[in-house]
Amino acid sequence: MSFLDKIREKMSHFMSGRYGSDQLGFTMVITALVLTLIGALTGLSRVTTILADVILILAFVRMFSKDRLKRANENKIFLEKTVGVRRKLVEWWNRIKNIRKYHYYTCPKCKKLLRVPRGAGNITITCRACGEKFDKKA
Ligand SMILES: [Zn+2]
Repeated sequence: MSFLDKIREKMSHFMSGRYGSDQLGFTMVITALVLTLIGALTGLSRVTTILADVILILAFVRMFSKDRLKRANENKIFLEKTVGVRRKLVEWWNRIKNIRKYHYYTCPKCKKLLRVPRGAGNITITCRACGEKFDKKA
């Protein structure tokens, strides 16, 4: 058994029965990293570092917790409360990913985000949600 296999086995033994990582934990770690970065860039490092450390400690306490039901419930609440924000982030990410393929317009009537293929010329866009028609150059 190699050294790495021994570490892997010990880690696996240590983590058995413990909660591990989830979306809330991942978000907490990312938040701590962002706070540290903000602190380094703005000179507010003392405040942000303390905050980042507290968040990181809480993230690890959750990860190593043996009360799995309670941790899963916290994550469920987190996912429920952030469903709108997460949907917006996915929308924003898809928009960046497809920026070369599509033009994005907002329907003037219902404000729904619409996308049309680039290079289609002057077109009349029909909103699928409300049926509003408007002219654009794509
Ligand atoms: Zn519409």
